[in-house]
Parts: sequence; C-alpha cells; structure tokens
Amino acid sequence: MGRVAALADEVAERLGRPAVFIEVCGTHTVAISRLGLRSLLAGRVELRSGPGCPVCVTDHQEIDMMVDLARLPGVTLGTFGDMLRVPGSRSSLERERAGGADVRIFYSPLDAVAFAEANPEREVVFLGIGFETTAPAVAASLARARAKGVKNFSLFSAHKLIPPALRAVLSDPELKLDGLILPGHVSAVTGRRAFDFIVKEYGLPSVISGFDPMDILIALHELLLQLLRGEARVANKYTRVVREEGNLDARKRIAECFEEVDVPWRGLGVIPESGLSLRETFRDFDARFKLNIEPAPPTPLYPPGCACKEILRGKLLPPECRLFSNVCTPVHPVGPCMVSSEGACAAYYRFERFSPVGGGI
Ligand code: SF4
Ligand code: SF4
Repeated sequence: MGRVAALADEVAERLGRPAVFIEVCGTHTVAISRLGLRSLLAGRVELRSGPGCPVCVTDHQEIDMMVDLARLPGVTLGTFGDMLRVPGSRSSLERERAGGADVRIFYSPLDAVAFAEANPEREVVFLGIGFETTAPAVAASLARARAKGVKNFSLFSAHKLIPPALRAVLSDPELKLDGLILPGHVSAVTGRRAFDFIVKEYGLPSVISGFDPMDILIALHELLLQLLRGEARVANKYTRVVREEGNLDARKRIAECFEEVDVPWRGLGVIPESGLSLRETFRDFDARFKLNIEPAPPTPLYPPGCACKEILRGKLLPPECRLFSNVCTPVHPVGPCMVSSEGACAAYYRFERFSPVGGGI
C-alpha cells in the first residue's frame, strides 16, 4: 500500500490533480469499497465505477419484456436473485411475483432445465442476464435441454458484451480518464487481446486484475507506473486465470449459440453489437419467438433525481447523487445501482457512506 500511495503522490504531482481510473467490474467496485481504498487514496487517485454490473445495465425495455413474460399464463420465469427488484417502466419482477406470477430464483441455468424437466406442464423461461462470463453456462444449458429433449424450456437473452460498452463509455468526450481496471472474469473468457483497442483507439493505460486486495493494489501500481512512464498498454496482472486468447472453449460455445446484436443498456443507450441474441438454429429455445413477445417500446426513464445514468458512465460518484443514503437506500432503492449487490451505490452505501469519500454522512 505504501508503494502505491507514494507512486500516486508522484503521479498526482505530475498531473496537478488526482489520477482518475475507472473500475469496470462490479466485483472490483465492491472489493475496492470494502478495502476502503477510495478513502486511503483520496486526493491522489479517484476510482470511479463503470458499466460492469449486469443487473444495473439491464434496460427498462428489457425488464418490461420480462414482466410481459411473467404475466403469461403457464409460464415460470427463472432468474438470478438481484434481478427481482430492478424496476422497469411499469413494474418489477418482484411486484409481478407478489401479484401471483411464478417467478423463481435459480442459481444456475442447469437448475432451470432440471425444473422444466420435472414440470412439463409449465413453460420455463430462463432470463439470460450477464456478460461474457455467464453466456457459456447458458449455452451449455440449452445444449443440455436439446440433448434431453426438454421442449418446455426457453431463454430470454439479455446478455451483454463488455468491449462494445467500454467503447461507448470511452467515446464520451466529457469523460476525463487516466486508466482502466479491466474485469478479470470477463477477460478470462475474451482474452487479454480483446482489450487492445483501448490502447489503439484511446491511448489509455489499462490493467486486467483479479479480485484479492493484493491483486487490486498490483493493478493500481501498474496503472500509476504506466502513467508516470508515459506508456499505455493492456497489462495482464491476472495471469493465473487470463490468457492472451481467452477461453477458446467458452468462446466457441458462445459463438455456436449466439450472434451479436445491437441492444439497449441502461444509462448508455443502444450500443452496436453489444448484446447476444440466440441464433436461428436455437429459435425453438428463444422465448421471444416461442411466446411471441413483442419488443417493448424504448423507455429511457430514470426515477426523478436518480443519477445512475452518470454513475454507470463513470461521470459521477454515488455520493454526488442527491438521493444517496437519504431517500435511496438498499432497503428502499430508487435506482438499479442501489438494488444490485454489485451496484456502485450499494457498495458505497455498505462500506463508505461514513468515510470522507462517502460524503461523511
Ligand atoms: S462477472 Fe466477473 S468480471 Fe463480470 S462483472 Fe461480474 S464479477 Fe466482474
Ligand atoms: S443513489 Fe439511488 S437514486 Fe442515486 S444514483 Fe444511486 S441508485 Fe440512483
């Protein structure tokens, strides 16, 4: 920590301001908050959060379609827990469940396939939410359902891809950044090379990091060193997990099942080729076609006063939202960044709201 702080001092002096880094991944956001690193480095390094929590970036439009699915008779909707409370424009899955819809939490898509097999009278729709990391397991569940002849299982894919989202964030001329901490698990699938565009197109230092305290300190050290030396490269400091070309088997599974499509992200709008939709060869498992779900109209609604849009773009910090911790809390969340356990607002609320960077409330 001492070496990072000393280097941060040197960089801040050189820049005449604190270095500004963005941590892309929600798990990094939580780890950094839990460690109290933002406070320890206050005045020398500013650590902002990015669009790396899959729950936070699921758009209103997608949630509206999930709500439409939950309302269909005979449908059981399977999802990960955090998704329940995220609001769409009309309702949330939690509200639908309270109203009688069969919405269940599954810890794995394979559990949802097993549930479908045991309940042939139900149409079990699994919500595919997540980044490059969850898509291979979902693809495997479709292969399992097909191999076992499970006909009452389908997928609503809201999967998203991190590199196109980063391109959208970095293209914002108002965002002044000095470097990025890249997501470790996503990189394990995509490989280090998938992020070379950050250096080529934006000339920014970047580092792929693991999630332990020492991993994060090593990542910060690397970014500060690159800045001091005037370098920019995508350093891989998570070599125990991440390879140059990624996990070829997982990438092949994704490519067999999905194709890249333009999709809406909460806070970022529609990003070209940033989502995964099922290929035609898997149409018999595609809930949108099987259950005739019409695309919901786009509704770029944000609760009044909620700054999630700016927070997901790394432009504001949670305590800069005027609703943070007074109106908006994990018990009464106003926006998705407070709902998800990996959301930036929830992380600040849990670990930093009494610290200097949390507003010292
Ligand atoms: S899946 Fe892993 S890398 Fe991706 S956002 Fe979650 S914790 Fe970060
Ligand atoms: S504190 Fe609440 S209202 Fe403010 S940005 Fe975060 S989630 Fe939205």
